[in-house]
Amino acid sequence: HEAPALQRITILGATGSIGSSTLDVIARHPERYRVHALSAATRHEALLELCLTHRPQVAVIATREAAAWLSDALKGVESYQGTPIEVRHGEQALVDISEAPEVDSVMAAIVGAAGLLPTLAAVRAGKRVLLANKEALVCAGQLFMDAVKQHGATLLPIDSEHNAIFQCLPAQHRDGLAPIGVEKLLLTASGGPFRDDAEWPAERLATVTPDEACAHPNWSMGRKISVDSATLMNKGLELIEACWLFACGPDDIQVVVHPQSVIHSMAAYSDGSVLAQMGNPDMRTPIAYALAWPERIDAGVEPLDLFQVARLDFRAADETRFPCLRLAREAIAAGGTWPAVMNAANEVAVAAFLEGRLAFDRIPAVVQAVMQARPPLAVDGLEVILAEDAAARELAAAELALAGP
Ligand code: NAD
Ligand code: MG
Repeated sequence: HEAPALQRITILGATGSIGSSTLDVIARHPERYRVHALSAATRHEALLELCLTHRPQVAVIATREAAAWLSDALKGVESYQGTPIEVRHGEQALVDISEAPEVDSVMAAIVGAAGLLPTLAAVRAGKRVLLANKEALVCAGQLFMDAVKQHGATLLPIDSEHNAIFQCLPAQHRDGLAPIGVEKLLLTASGGPFRDDAEWPAERLATVTPDEACAHPNWSMGRKISVDSATLMNKGLELIEACWLFACGPDDIQVVVHPQSVIHSMAAYSDGSVLAQMGNPDMRTPIAYALAWPERIDAGVEPLDLFQVARLDFRAADETRFPCLRLAREAIAAGGTWPAVMNAANEVAVAAFLEGRLAFDRIPAVVQAVMQARPPLAVDGLEVILAEDAAARELAAAELALAGP
């Protein structure tokens, strides 16, 4: 039995929910994984803590001031006696740690379109890319998948639904569903905290607070994706993500609300077989799967107790109370820059909701208004995507100003 080759890993977004689950799995297998670099946006104290525990070679934080603080703090900490950690800041540093020659794998766990450039850098450097940052793929799907092919990158989905589908498909599935005999992908959704329409009728959605929206019934996640789960925009983003990952169209994917979140998604084959991947809702499972693929390793996750689960329910998604799913379907059907526009408007609207500047039920209205004002353009490179993303953010901010507090 040969010892596994050591994988050197960069973690983009190390202080987040996915980042910390990744570090938890990695720490269970020191013989397999070595942390090369860790990044964070603003939480310098949390990043310091992670540096002391995981001893990366490089740490990246957004601002020069935060980098100076981190650098001083590392020098000042008595227990810090390893090789000095190089502290860097800014966007170029994120790109550098993603394409560094000594790096084998990159965990892309920054939230939002902010993760696009470093994630694309990892793809273009032909890395093994563990993709949690769904917004990057939503914004630049075609470019992203072309780059994966051109540079021989290995793309492993972390999003639990896509990881489940990946597990249910044969290894060669990049040419679409027909050649592998798949009729349909079944994308499961918990339905979010407001899925019960008796408890949360449309009128009551106007009064939802950020904490209510972030109290997800099954998963513990960052605040942005938690709000997306509550509006069903998360399922819309995932629909688009699945179209790119599995080379299919939105009509090949059926969204199935499954409140127990035990089946993480399914593939329906032409012979009538439906393959599902099941497990407790714990992101360490898909993370460990992608880290070790094609092998399997311990993820620290409790085994699934089917007697405790007892039953599995399924129903259709309610696109009347939750129009974001329909907007996402329209965005991917029209294609071009529309998914990037939709995503940017959604990021601005969600941030405004979390800051108490926008009512929960106004999020889809802001997204729709921006999409209407910014019809889709053909994508001939990254520039047009970045320009449309910026324009959509400005339009969304103007919408918010119109709407008032
Ligand atoms: P989070 O908010 O907990 O963490 C985000 C991380 O990104 C943090 O480390 C933060 O410092 C960093 N970051 C934020 N803005 C940045 C910027 N502008 N520049 C550089 N770094 C920045 O988010 P999360 O829940 O861990 O989600 C991360 C990504 O994974 C998202 O795209 C999300 O959709 C996806 N995802 C998360 C889960 C989950 O269970 N949390 C599940 C599936 C997919
Ligand atoms: Mg998901």
